[in-house]
Amino acid sequence: MNSIFSQVNEGNSNILLSKDGNEQSLFRLCKRKQSLRLNNKYVGQNIKFHQEVKNHYEFIGSYLQNEQLLLICKSNMTKEFDDLAEFLIKNKVKIDDDHISLVQIENCLAQGVSKIGVIDYYSKIYNNRILECKPKWNKMSLLNYMTYISFEGFGHEASDMNKVICRNCLNSKTNIKKKFILCYNGCMGLQPIDGYPELKNYILTPSNIITKIYEQQTQLQDQIVYNDESTLFLINLLIALRDITLFIDIDKKKITIIDLDYKNIENKDDFDFKMSKEWILLQKFTPNI
Ligand SMILES: [Zn+2]
Repeated sequence: MNSIFSQVNEGNSNILLSKDGNEQSLFRLCKRKQSLRLNNKYVGQNIKFHQEVKNHYEFIGSYLQNEQLLLICKSNMTKEFDDLAEFLIKNKVKIDDDHISLVQIENCLAQGVSKIGVIDYYSKIYNNRILECKPKWNKMSLLNYMTYISFEGFGHEASDMNKVICRNCLNSKTNIKKKFILCYNGCMGLQPIDGYPELKNYILTPSNIITKIYEQQTQLQDQIVYNDESTLFLINLLIALRDITLFIDIDKKKITIIDLDYKNIENKDDFDFKMSKEWILLQKFTPNI
């Protein structure tokens, strides 16, 4: 029998599904780990993380996509569990729990898509009116960059404050697929979106959402005490904000943050490990450091 769910999109960690052909809302099925039990645990952590963001960071929280947690139980005698399990099995996820935590979300493209303009690996423009982009990291001084990727800090020179690292552009050096990404930090101009004047004007507005998110990243960077585990929530939020996707709908004047995903940084060792990879990248792709 046909599945009641259809795949709309797929990332590294989630499968995006529609149900019964209705695309007004979509369903996020987690495939991050190869165990349903661990994926269910992660989905719960992520929902809790979003709630905490809404409680303490109203600015970010107000843009978060509406979501609702659904528990699809095996014992309900419906097809839903089996259909979802089939998607998971195809993705090598072991069915080792009696329910599936599924997240229902609003569809940022609910009106349908007639035209897609692909700008780069991270950016698309739908119907000439809706920009999807991943602005990644703020641009910062080498001194700050080194501080922000380490608990302890490095021995460094005061002149490092004047050397500028763009983490977006660094990202494009590290992966051939991302070679031509549009940098929203203004390094190379905005020519790739010249054909979309309203979107370009929005990006050039000083208070645009990308700039505001960078301001939030900077504030978090300054609040974090790198040898103090009491700031782990802030560290998780900072790193999650470096990896979000934005939908900017010019017609509806609506901005949505999606994929603000909890990064499972639960102690100093987790954070050190994650940031040591950053340090290696920085050394590899930035000469004269
Ligand atoms: Zn750049």
